[in-house]
Amino acid sequence: MGTPKPIYVTQPYLPALADFIPYLEKIWDSKILTNGGPFHAQLEAALCSYLGVEHLALFTNGTIGLITALQALRITGEVITTPYSFVATAHSLLWNGIKPVFVDIDPHTLNLDPSKIEAAITPHTTAIMPVHVYGHPCDVDAIERIADNYNLKVIYDAAHAFGVQCHCGSVLTHGDLSVLSFHATKVFNTFEGGAIICPDAKTKVRIDHLKNFGFVDETTVVAPGINGKMSEFNAALGLLQLKEIDTALARRKQIDALYRRLLPEIAGIRILRDGGEVVSNHAYFPIMVETDYPLSRDALYQKLRDAQIFSRRYFYPLISNFPMYRGLASASPDNLPVATEAARKVLCLPISPALTDDDVHRVVDCLRRG
Ligand SMILES: *Cc1c(COP(=O)(O)O)cnc(C)c1O
Repeated sequence: MGTPKPIYVTQPYLPALADFIPYLEKIWDSKILTNGGPFHAQLEAALCSYLGVEHLALFTNGTIGLITALQALRITGEVITTPYSFVATAHSLLWNGIKPVFVDIDPHTLNLDPSKIEAAITPHTTAIMPVHVYGHPCDVDAIERIADNYNLKVIYDAAHAFGVQCHCGSVLTHGDLSVLSFHATKVFNTFEGGAIICPDAKTKVRIDHLKNFGFVDETTVVAPGINGKMSEFNAALGLLQLKEIDTALARRKQIDALYRRLLPEIAGIRILRDGGEVVSNHAYFPIMVETDYPLSRDALYQKLRDAQIFSRRYFYPLISNFPMYRGLASASPDNLPVATEAARKVLCLPISPALTDDDVHRVVDCLRRG
């Protein structure tokens, strides 16, 4: 028997290369490479319509989107956020000179726990930055109530939440701003890319200025903006990907259902409950390796690797354990018991449109033989 085929935690869903050539020809003919060209405008319109939002500004990546979102709302002081996320969430705060204040997560959703937010509010708190972890919507109503009571802004890191719908339509319309990532590993990708969902045209205009150095016309600069513009190449990729996104999401849903059918037989492996009424994008398939499983989480991770199955420990280590954060009082593990436990137990199994049913069975068989 040769080496088994590698199974990756995620693989991008790439359309046929030949289908991309006509887009390239248009770029070569027009010689418009960036600065809000025709593909950029088309992708903004197409995404607004697909996602069910009114205004959206494309970005070069999600991280610059988060940094710009904080600038757009002039956030300063302290921002309440989750330690259970990709490190870019908190980094966007540090890049703005803002102090992150970590609050623990809910054990069921692994999202920021609204019941713990109020105790962390100080006179310096100006905003909340929650994350829709794995695409599961946060408790947006509870967060909105707190934000209204204390006059705080809410910026959602919605990097995982492309196409997710909650009880009242797109989850992306909640909060003051939501930021998407179109990185290669995400459900919808433009190789690198991102977007800010804006509540109104005026906010979008401000954000469009901020992503172009603060220019409003050839000679007027109104803010210390950044270069956050998405290129025509990436926008064209997005337009092509968007044609296939429903097929990709449907396949993810099948794989999610197959895991949910097979995994409950295995003692010591706990799956997070699905979203109920939520329309999920099945971006990730996290499991919790409990203490009654024969192997530790890390031993299982290694065993899968040895079988050419590449799972990921999202999110371990917690953001609050990285050197630039761990000195903060709120970063203490005593303040974050639920997140600390989740980071110790979680493993994200492979899920992507590229997987076959046999691949999923191979992953589950490997877990079964603990
Ligand atoms: C991917 C990701 C980001 C960063 O997005 P990029 O487009 O890679 O810059 C931010 N937050 C979360 C939760 C992510 O998963």
